Amino acid sequence: MPIEHDLPVGKINCCQVCGSEKLHLVVDLGHQPPCDSLLWSPQLDDAEKSYPLRFLVCEDCSLGQIDYAVAPEELFFPDYPYRSGITATLVDKLSQTAVSTLSRFKLPENALVMDIGSNDGTVLSAFKERGMKVLGVEATNIAKIANENGIETLQAFFNEELASEVHQSYGTASVICATNVFAHISGLGSIMRGVSSLLDDGGVFVTQSHYLLDLLETNQYNSIYHEHLRYYTLKSLIVLFEQYNFTVTDVERIDNYGGSIRVFAVKGSGREVSAAVTALLEEEEKAGLYDLEVYRTFAQRLITAKRDLLTLVVSACSQGKKVVGIGCPGRSSTLMNFTGLAPDLVPYIAEQSTSLKLGLFLPGLHVPIIDEKVMFEEQPDYAIMLSWHYADPIIQKLRAKGLKSKIILPLPEVTVIEN
Ligand SMILES: [Zn+2]
Repeated sequence: MPIEHDLPVGKINCCQVCGSEKLHLVVDLGHQPPCDSLLWSPQLDDAEKSYPLRFLVCEDCSLGQIDYAVAPEELFFPDYPYRSGITATLVDKLSQTAVSTLSRFKLPENALVMDIGSNDGTVLSAFKERGMKVLGVEATNIAKIANENGIETLQAFFNEELASEVHQSYGTASVICATNVFAHISGLGSIMRGVSSLLDDGGVFVTQSHYLLDLLETNQYNSIYHEHLRYYTLKSLIVLFEQYNFTVTDVERIDNYGGSIRVFAVKGSGREVSAAVTALLEEEEKAGLYDLEVYRTFAQRLITAKRDLLTLVVSACSQGKKVVGIGCPGRSSTLMNFTGLAPDLVPYIAEQSTSLKLGLFLPGLHVPIIDEKVMFEEQPDYAIMLSWHYADPIIQKLRAKGLKSKIILPLPEVTVIEN
């Protein structure tokens, strides 16, 4: 019997990819609010929802995963505050999806390229510039920005039903991309069936997901949050795609979001597989991803990193020093809430003036997000870089703009950069 990949809301009892019951708890991050549920000040007086956040690994297929599915409507609401086109670095990285795909696959003229969770259309713009027909699917109001920018985008959740409507109106697609959403969607079975029905035979499904090996190597426990249901290894993706008659033909590691893999899965079984696939599987095995011991030491390292950060911040505050946060990606919520950095320790998080998050509060501990101008005026003693995975270019920019504060990198281990 095929494995049910469409997760109901609530507790998950077996592996999300292979169905195995051999799931092992790696770390329990406690009950946490959904990380992108930023609050406006009138909401601070209301009750707030929080859900279990536990990270587990499957002994059989090596998929990292959490074991509680929050209702998608609660996680990806229409005002979801994330916009991919906002930083130049990210735009460049997302455009690489097009370059990388077109260098591997010869597409027919006027081929249709689709993107699931297309955000503001950044990925599709790069395909459009290269002569492809494009169509985005995006559930949040960011779809409007994409349409205004000339990237045709349907505001909807992608699923089997939507796929059949798209098929009737637009025909089949040669490429379907899913960038940084493939690990997030609870209706995985519906997506796989939808993608399969929309793609031409030999069409390619290009997914880009945060990579479990990078997560482990650099202690990125801040990447564990409710939106992020699965933490893929290549092995687990192969197990998944085989169940839908796709062949994983190629893979590349990329440095987006602190380390991701871009995986090319071609519709149809028994396709030719590149050497990169075999090599990365060997690397996963060598790194111990198929062995539980690696996950035990990861758990120890992340607890150490959490305690070191808390100790540093508490001791600075006790000496009358001021510590603030810089940059508020969704994932900063897990780090701030798990470490316990409430406003008495970290009175605000500074974001650039163009950010859609200004004036909002972090869920849980209610740290306010304010314009970085305040930080430049105050020059606090320390600033914790919450987007630490992009540290180098951001630090350069902050220094150029005149920030003199010592910068704390919270991970992979706590590091203070004096100047
Ligand atoms: Zn599994």
